[in-house]
Amino acid sequence: QRAQWAKLVDAPSVSADGKQFEIASNIGTIADMADVLKAGSDAVGLFRSEFLYMDSSNLPTEEEQFNAYKRVVKVMNGKPVVVRTMDIGGDKQLSYLHLPEEMNPFLGYRAIRISLQRQSIFRTQLRALIRASKYGQLRIMFPMIATLEEFRQAKTIFIEERQKLQATDPGIGDDIKLGMMIEVPAAAIFAEGFAKEVDFFSIGTNDLIQYTFAADRGNECVSYLYQPYNPALLKLIKHVIDAAHKEGKIAAMCGEMAGDAIALPLLMGMGLDEYSMSSSSVLRTRSAMRSLNTKKCAQLVDQVLSNALTNEDTIKMVKTFLK
Ligand code: PEP
Ligand code: MG
Repeated sequence: QRAQWAKLVDAPSVSADGKQFEIASNIGTIADMADVLKAGSDAVGLFRSEFLYMDSSNLPTEEEQFNAYKRVVKVMNGKPVVVRTMDIGGDKQLSYLHLPEEMNPFLGYRAIRISLQRQSIFRTQLRALIRASKYGQLRIMFPMIATLEEFRQAKTIFIEERQKLQATDPGIGDDIKLGMMIEVPAAAIFAEGFAKEVDFFSIGTNDLIQYTFAADRGNECVSYLYQPYNPALLKLIKHVIDAAHKEGKIAAMCGEMAGDAIALPLLMGMGLDEYSMSSSSVLRTRSAMRSLNTKKCAQLVDQVLSNALTNEDTIKMVKTFLK
C-alpha cells in the first residue's frame, strides 16, 4: 500500500469527481521540511512557530526568526506557508518569559493573549514574518482567538509593523493573507462575525475538542471525551466552514482530525478546503481523497447530522459508507 501511496507524491489532491483540495503539512521546525518534500504536500498549513521559542534559552531575535521563516518559505518554492504566531502557554512553558503560575493554564494566559499584552515580542515576530514574505507565499494566523476585538487588535499591530517596514521597502507584505485559528468555541459559534474580517480560518481541532467537551487534551482519565465524530462537534465544524464560504473565505483544518480517515469523507462532504496534518499522513489521505465522491460525501454528512446521536453512531455510518 505504501508503494501505491508513494506514486501520489506529485499527484493533485483531488476527489474522484474532480474537486480540488489542498493537503498540507504541519511542521514544528525546519528539520521537518525534508518530510514535507517527501510527502509532496501542497502547502505548509501550520508552522508551529513556538518551537523557535522553546528550542532557545532566550527570546529568538528578529534576525533568527527571519532566517527560519525565510528558509521554510524558500523550500516551499511558491507554495503557501501558514505560520502561526507564538502559541506559548497552556502545556508549552518558556522559563525565560517568567509567566505566572496558574490554576488552569489551558484557560489562562496563552497564545494571542500573551502576544497582545507583551507586544514587543509580538511585533518582533511580525516584522520577521513580513520580511520573510518576500521569498514566497507566506500567510499568518493567530492562535486562540476568542473575540473579534482580539483579532482586530492583532491585525492593527500587523498593519502598523508593515507600514514601518514599507517606509524603506514599498509594498512589502501587501499580499500576506491574515487568518485565525478556530480553537475556542466562542469563535466557532460566531464564525459568521469573524468571516467578514479574516482571509481564512484554520480549525484547530485538538483545542476545539478540548474546550467543547471541557476535557483536558492531555489527561488520560478524560480521554474518552476526545470525540471528533460527536454530532455536537461536527455541527460546530460545519458551521465554521459554511460561514467562511458565505464570505468567500478559505476554511482549513490543522488539528489531528484533518488527517483522520473516518473524518475525511465528512470534511470533504462539508467542503473543507485545506487539510493540514503530520507529513506522514499526507499520501494516505491523498489516496483516500482520490477515491471519494464529494456529492456522496455531502449526502453522508446529511445522513450523519440528521441521525447520529453519538460519536459511535457516526463511526458506524462512516464505516458503512466507506465499505
Ligand atoms: C490545535 O489545537 O488543533 C492545533 C493545531 O494547535 P496545537 O495542537 O499546536 O495546539
Ligand atoms: Mg491549539
